[in-house]
Amino acid sequence: MKTDGKIYVAGHGGMVGSAIVRKLKEKGYTNIVGRRSSELDLTRQADTEAFFAEEKPDYVFMCAAKVGGIYANNTYPADFIIRNLQMESNVIHAAFRNNVKKLMFMASDCIYPREAPMPLKEEYLLTGPLEPTNRPYAMAKLAGIELCEAYNRQYGTNYISCLPANLYGPGDNYDLENGHVMPSLLRKFVEAVENDSPAVTVWGTGTAYREFLHTDDMADACVFLMEHYDANTLEKEDPYARETVNVGFGKDITIKELVGILAEITGFRGEIVWDITKPDGTPRKIADSSKLFNMGWRPQIALKDGIRQTYLDYLENRHKYRS
Ligand code: GDP
Repeated sequence: MKTDGKIYVAGHGGMVGSAIVRKLKEKGYTNIVGRRSSELDLTRQADTEAFFAEEKPDYVFMCAAKVGGIYANNTYPADFIIRNLQMESNVIHAAFRNNVKKLMFMASDCIYPREAPMPLKEEYLLTGPLEPTNRPYAMAKLAGIELCEAYNRQYGTNYISCLPANLYGPGDNYDLENGHVMPSLLRKFVEAVENDSPAVTVWGTGTAYREFLHTDDMADACVFLMEHYDANTLEKEDPYARETVNVGFGKDITIKELVGILAEITGFRGEIVWDITKPDGTPRKIADSSKLFNMGWRPQIALKDGIRQTYLDYLENRHKYRS
């Protein structure tokens, strides 16, 4: 990417998009554009096309998405599939029509088959049934990846996709029902300490494994990939091989272990109540990030340090965050 090239970060107000903007600025990129969802509704094709025709970005980070934790995915399945399909097809097609030089599409590691062998390798995508609680979201994200591949194959575009682990960091959604596990639990622990509550309720059995990655590491990986990884210059033995890259931390922990870390960091000494009426979701999810690691990238933020930083950010900025 040229440092003065115009970069559109779709979803720049969200957790991932804002981290990418911070990273781009830190690395000397000067020409970054974004629109709040109140200014541009990416589910509307005509508005999206008009924006691209006006701004003519050179590079696109497609981070705009309808995202949420296990409860939100399970409760609003129609919203998750339709809004993601609309936004990604509008953005990718508009990017193509306006000769965007390179695009990165953000997917997620929750789109792998539920029973895929661990660690998850990129080639395991679409090899088995999906986890039912987030299947609509996963189907939309799989369609987004395939859109990128199809444009690459038919038109020689340079669209790549990445599959991040369970992300956390500043700017997250702290809604207790709809958020992901890290922000929801962080908030529960902070409030329990503040209110002197004797117990915190955690969903599921605590036995599920998740791989957590700080959003600043994720952003660093995304910019790294945009700088060093091309879809159409790779020598491809298989023309149908996908240009997806796992972006993980390289180590997973159980929800129980996460609870222990959160209790320690927030200073909570009360009881943990496990609400086993709530789902555990996929039993284990850890990506094989060797494709990315072999290109020379590594995460820099140790889990406890990242959680501590996120905790301090939450204490300072929670009035600004969704909750
Ligand atoms: P997932 O990684 O796509 O399944 O999504 P989440 O980030 O929502 O993580 C879900 C896992 O965390 C499941 O095993 C839940 O049982 C567990 N969990 C425990 N407490 C909570 C909570 O308060 N909120 C959420 N979202 N998940 C929780």
